[in-house]
Order: sequence, then structure tokens, then C-alpha cells
Amino acid sequence: MSNSSIPRIQHYINGHLTETAGGSQQAVFNPATGEVSAQVVLASDADVQAVVAVAKAAAPAWADMAPLKRARILFKFKDLIEKHHDDLAAAITREHGKVFSDAKGEVTRGLEIVEFACGVPQLLKTQFTDNIGGGIDNWNLRQPLGVTAGITPFNFPFMVPMWMAPVALATGNTFILKPSERDPSPSLMVADLLKQAGLPDGVFNVLQGDKRAVDGLLQHPDVKAVSFVGSTPIAEHIYTTGAARKGPYPLRIQALGGAKNHLVVMPDANLEQAVDALIGAAYGSAGERCMAISVAVAVGSVADKLVAALIPRVKSLKVKNGMEADAEMGPVVSAAHKAKIEGYIEAGVKSGAKLLVDGRGLVVDGYSKGFFLGGCLFDHVTPDMTIYQEEIFGPVLCVVRVPDFVAALELVNAHEFGNGVALFTSDGNTAREFSRRVEIGMVGINVPIPVPMAWHSFGGWKRSMFGDTHAYGEEGIKFYTRYKSIMQRWPESISKGAEFTIPTSK
Ligand code: NAD
Repeated sequence: MSNSSIPRIQHYINGHLTETAGGSQQAVFNPATGEVSAQVVLASDADVQAVVAVAKAAAPAWADMAPLKRARILFKFKDLIEKHHDDLAAAITREHGKVFSDAKGEVTRGLEIVEFACGVPQLLKTQFTDNIGGGIDNWNLRQPLGVTAGITPFNFPFMVPMWMAPVALATGNTFILKPSERDPSPSLMVADLLKQAGLPDGVFNVLQGDKRAVDGLLQHPDVKAVSFVGSTPIAEHIYTTGAARKGPYPLRIQALGGAKNHLVVMPDANLEQAVDALIGAAYGSAGERCMAISVAVAVGSVADKLVAALIPRVKSLKVKNGMEADAEMGPVVSAAHKAKIEGYIEAGVKSGAKLLVDGRGLVVDGYSKGFFLGGCLFDHVTPDMTIYQEEIFGPVLCVVRVPDFVAALELVNAHEFGNGVALFTSDGNTAREFSRRVEIGMVGINVPIPVPMAWHSFGGWKRSMFGDTHAYGEEGIKFYTRYKSIMQRWPESISKGAEFTIPTSK
């Protein structure tokens, strides 16, 4: 592709594609071919000012619109997502690399949150107490915050923005999406579909960019809330920097970070089911999921059988361009990320873990420049190793052997991350003990990737989440609204004279 024919991915501000005012640009790749597919603009400080001003100007009218009318726009948006389901999925595969069927699943999971947000008139209902005493009634409002922003990772370029935007919009906020610069195209498709659905200009905006855009949004006094999803160091940066912001309104922040999710296999588990679960959850989307399983904890006598069953399955993974119908795993997102994963594999070998399947050096027919890596399997991994401690975010599964259930639970609880965990067992009591004692935000019992549905909320514990309001569901409604209490009485019921003691119900 010649330089002039390379598409340019711009901002979307006030209902229009907008060029950057003085920002730079960055190449976007198709990970399967290794070729540059577009250039994305990176916001300047002036772009940040411009987008916040637009979102601020649009906020009062949008906040005043009846929730049912806002919901009707979301219903149309939902229809349009369904109509463009395959286009959205193809755009995801083109820039992320995941297989098309998985990208379609991503669109569906995002769509489900739009469906949830369509119920906002019901979700915004609050409490009312008639006659708390002395002719006074007390009730609550949930009011929008104003301008809100979402900063999202590369690994779910449609679904993660949908964790935020539909809920923010439904509750009457305006929203600025800062997508990952590695796969920015789906964000513009979302903007276009929202416009077609009838969303007023300025209510949903896309600011393309990197750290500069993010820091600009964090510091801007008119941005009232930031939802972040990405790696732990950046989540922590967002949380601490945002919390330190001065001004009348402290910045409201939810910052979801990285993960190291364990799947514990008990000796009484159905081995075939556990192996299927591990293969899908460790290697699906090339391990680039925050809920991917990256550690298999083999309890007691199950270890040798489990490892023996995993080896041929990892070796026979179909690693291909994600658009090919039978592909099970696509490339990883970038050449740099591939090199980083390879560095972890090298470190694992050096630290003494046994590399049973080595996916390095894989060349996919017809795609010699693609960022492909085959599945990797390590056995005899121990907690002191970097490959155990850090998030690799690639197709690498580490097997840790422990003697019993208690050791498995202690291992999981000692890890700094606490996003997801799974237990495979056929014993109800073990399952119950595990669910209650494990220090992890999302738990699966014989379910490898327990991502909560749209009306339950998503979020990890420990260093997988900074802030305390989880994403979407009722927690999302809380995050995007300010809670107000109103107490009211009318002159007929006001008794004479000033009161100097704290009012009580007499
Ligand atoms: P990332 O942290 O590199 O980037 C996330 C966002 O932050 C992007 O929009 C990026 O532009 C921005 N960013 C990057 N560096 C920044 C900096 N120095 N200052 C300010 N902003 C910066 O994450 P990623 O590589 O895009 O995504 C993968 C990570 O996201 C993994 O760690 C994964 O576990 C995590 N993730 C977590 C969840 C969850 O729900 N907990 C979900 C999806 C992904």
C-alpha cells in the first residue's frame, strides 16, 4: 500500500470525523499480515480541550432528556449493532487479530450491555419514604455527572467501550472514548452507529491518542469521571493521578487492571472437561484476555494425567489468520508484543520451568510477516518465577503442581492479581469452600471464564482493580450517577420557632 492510500483514522468530535490540531500519528497494523493498514491520529493538548468543550456543551440538554427517550436511542443503536454485527467483528479481527468467531462473540457481549442500558428508566428509579415525620418526605435522585471519559485496552476494542458508554449515556452523561491506538477502528463504527440511532452531536465523542490524551483527560477539570481498563501499572497511574486532581469535584475513577487467572483442577474433576476448558481459556484470543487462564493448578494425583492430556492439544492448535473459518487462534497484536512474550518464554526456560510445548518460530503459510506464535506449555512452574508472577498476555499456559486443596487456595490468594479464577471439581463442598474463601473478584465453578452477564457487574480484587465500583450492571449505574437525598415539607406542617437541637422523629 502506498503512503497516500493508507487510510487515516481520525477523532470523532461533535458528530464529525475531525483531524488533529497539531497531534502526531501512529501506524495501525493487521497482525495477520504484519502490514500497516492505517495511520491513527494521536491527540494534541488542543484536541483534548476541544473534545471536552464539545462534550460539556452537549451535557445539559442530554441530561434533561427523559430517560425513556434516551433509552429509545439505545434501542435503535442495539438494532444497528445487530445489523452490522459481522462488519464490527471483521474490523476487530483486522486490527486485533483474534479469530472472527471470537470477534463475533465480543460484539455479542458488548451488545448485551446496550440491552441492559435500554432498561435505564427502571434502573434510575430510587427510594422514596413517605412521611418520615412532621409532614416531611425523603427521597433520592441519581443524577448524571456531566462529561465522562473511558480509556480502553486493545484486547476488546468493541466490548470494553460497551462496558462503559451505553451505561454512561443512558444515565444522562456525555462520553469521550479514548480507545487503544493499536485497534482504533471499531470506535469510529460505534460513533457512526450512535449517530444513525439519533444520538445528538457531541454526546458521544472519540479522541484517538496515547498517554498525552489520557493525561489531558485526567487533568481536565470538566471531566467528572474516568473509567479505565488496561494493564495494572497504567490503572494505578490513572487512579493515583486522578485522585490527586484538585478542584471542586474530585475525579471519580474506576480503573480495572491486569490479571493472572488460575484454573484449579481437583483430582475428582472430570479431566476431559478440565482439559477442554484449559485449552479454550488459555489459548483463545491468543491468551490476550484479562480473563484468560494463564495458570493451571494441578492438585495432587491429577498433575501427570493433566499434563499428558494437554500436550497434544496445545501442539495441534490451529493457528491461522483469524478470518479463516477453522482458525482456533490468530496472531498476537503486534511485533513488539510478540517479542515481549518470547522474552517471558526465554525467562521461564532460564528459571528452570519445563517448556513442554514451544510455540516460538511458528510460520503460518502465506503469512510469513504476521505476528504469530504457537501455543506454549510450561510444567513445574513455581511461584518465585517471573512467568508465574507477571501477566504474559499471550498463548502461554503455566502448570503449577500443588499437593492439596489448601495449598491451591493459598497459592491463588497469595498472588497480587485477583481478577478471575476457576475451580474444576465434582464435589459441592469443595466448590462452596473455594467460592467463599478465594480472594478473587470473579469465580467460576466448572466455568473457566466467568465473565459476569450485563446485569451483574465486572471487576477484580487486589491489584486487578483500583477504585471500588465495578463495571456495568447496577454498579455501573452507580458509577455514572451522583446520589442525592431530598427532604421536603410544605409550610402548613412547619411548626413555629427556631430549633437548636438536632431534628429527630418525635
Ligand atoms: P495498556 O495499559 O497498555 O493500555 C490501556 C489504555 O491506556 C490504552 O488506551 C492506552 O492508550 C493507554 N495508555 C497506555 N500507556 C499509557 C500511559 N503511560 N499513560 C496513560 N495512558 C496509557 O493495556 P493494553 O495493552 O491495551 O491492554 C492489555 C491489558 O489490559 C492487560 O493487562 C489486560 O489484563 C488488561 N485488561 C484488563 C481488563 C479488566 O477488566 N481487568 C479487561 C481487558 C484488558
